Amino acid sequence: MFDKILIANRGEIALRILRAAKELGIATVAVHSTADADAMHVRLADESVCIGPPPARDSYLNIPSIIAACEITGADAVHPGYGFLSENARFAEVLNHHGIGFIGPKAEHIRVMGDKIEAKRTAKRLGIPCVPGSEGGVTDTDEAKRVAADIGYPVLIKAASGGGGRGMKVARSEADLETALMTARTEAKAAFGDDAVYIEKYLEKPRHIEVQVLGDGRGNAIHLAERDCSLQRRHQKVWEEGPSPALNAEMREQIGGTVARAMQELGYTGAGTIEFLYEDGQFYFIEMNTRIQVEHPVTEMITGIDLVNEQIRVAAGAPLSVRQEDVRVEGHAIECRINAEHPATFRPSPGTITYFHPPGGLGVRVDSAAYQGYRIPPHYDSLMGKLIVHGRTRNECLMRLRRALDEFVVAGIDTTLPLFRTLVRNADIQNGLYDIHWLEEFLKTGGLEIE
Ligand code: ADP
Repeated sequence: MFDKILIANRGEIALRILRAAKELGIATVAVHSTADADAMHVRLADESVCIGPPPARDSYLNIPSIIAACEITGADAVHPGYGFLSENARFAEVLNHHGIGFIGPKAEHIRVMGDKIEAKRTAKRLGIPCVPGSEGGVTDTDEAKRVAADIGYPVLIKAASGGGGRGMKVARSEADLETALMTARTEAKAAFGDDAVYIEKYLEKPRHIEVQVLGDGRGNAIHLAERDCSLQRRHQKVWEEGPSPALNAEMREQIGGTVARAMQELGYTGAGTIEFLYEDGQFYFIEMNTRIQVEHPVTEMITGIDLVNEQIRVAAGAPLSVRQEDVRVEGHAIECRINAEHPATFRPSPGTITYFHPPGGLGVRVDSAAYQGYRIPPHYDSLMGKLIVHGRTRNECLMRLRRALDEFVVAGIDTTLPLFRTLVRNADIQNGLYDIHWLEEFLKTGGLEIE
C-alpha cells in the first residue's frame, strides 16, 4: 500500500480523497494555488505545498510543480480527482517515469477514451452498443451527406476532441448539413485545436444514463449499477440519481453485464464511467470517463462501496474488495450539485460565505469544502458543495431531500439551492418523467419563479 498520497486537486473532491486516504492510514499532501492558502483541503492534509499563482494553468495544471511537490514531500502516489489533470495521459506517464504511482487507469486507456472517435471504435469492438453514425472522422461534405442519408436525419456533428458539450451541431436536413459541418469544424478548431469531426444520429428525447465500473487491471472488472444524469443545463449535470427511474432490475443487469465484460476484456484499472444515451429501450454509448466523477456519491450511497478507497487499493496493486455477486443496490439516492451562482441567471457568485449551516440526519451526506468565513475565489468552477440523500425508496429519498434542502442555509453568496427546492416539488421530477432537454425547457418557460 502507498505511504503518502499527494492530492492534485482542490475543493470538495480534494477533501473526499483525503478522507479515503486517512481511513486507509495513508498520509496526505495537499497542493494549492496562492488563492487557496486558506482552503479546507490544505487545513486537513498532513502537509501542504503551494504550487503556483491562482490561474489553474500555473498551479493545478502545472505538471513540473506537482512532480516537485511529490519529490519534496516524498509522496509515492498522486490522486488527480476529476477535471484538471485527471484525464491527461502524459501526466500519468510522467509520474510513472518518476516512480510515482498514478491513481487512475493506464495511460493508454486514458488516451484511447480521450479521443471520441477512437473511444467509439473501441466501445464497438468490445460489444458496447453505440449511436449509429460515421465509422470514423468525416472531412468532406459529400461523405457527410452519404453518412447522414444512411442513418437518417436529424444528425449531430460532434468534435473528436470535444468536451463539455462544445463543438456539436445538429443538422435536421441535407440543406443544413454543409453549414453545420463547417460551423462544427470551425468551433472545434477554435476550442480544441483539432477540427476532426464525426457524425451521429441525433436522438430527440434521450435520457443520460451512465454505468459505474471498477477494474483491477488484471482481468477482473465489475459494474456498480447506473446513475441517471438527464437533468442538465448546457450539457452540465445538475441533478443525478440512482437507480434510474427508467430502468428495471433486468435492464440494469443486462447493460451492467455488457459493460463489465467489456472492461474485463480491456484490462481496465480503477474507476470509470461508461456514458450512454437511452431512448426507446435502447442504450447508445457516447463516451467513457476514465476517472472518479462528481456524481460518484450516488453510487456509494446505494451500494455502500467506497469508490475512492477502491481506486487507491487497485492503484497499489491490490485486488478489488468486492465481487460482482456482493454488489447490491439498496434504496435510492439523489445528488444536487449546488453552485455558487445566481439560481435564475446562473451568474457566478464568488465571495465570502458569512453563514453556513449544512443539513444532517439519517441518509444525508454533504460533500463540500465550504465553511463559515470561507471566501470562494473567482478563479475556479462554481461548485460549492454536493448534497446527497439516500432513502429506502425513491419517494422516501425525495421527501428527505425536500427537508434537507429546506434546512440548508448558505448566506453571503448566491447559490442554486432555490432551484433544487423548486425541482424537488415538481410533478415531472417526482414522477421521474424527464429527458436531457427537460431542465432547459423548464427554465425557458419560466418554471423557476425567482426574481
Ligand atoms: P461532451 O464530451 O462534450 O460532454 P458527449 O458526447 O458526452 O460530449 O455529449 C454531451 C451531451 O450532448 C450529452 O449528454 C447529450 O445531452 C448530448 N448528445 C451527445 N450526443 C448526442 C446524440 N447523438 N443525440 C442527442 N444528444 C446528444
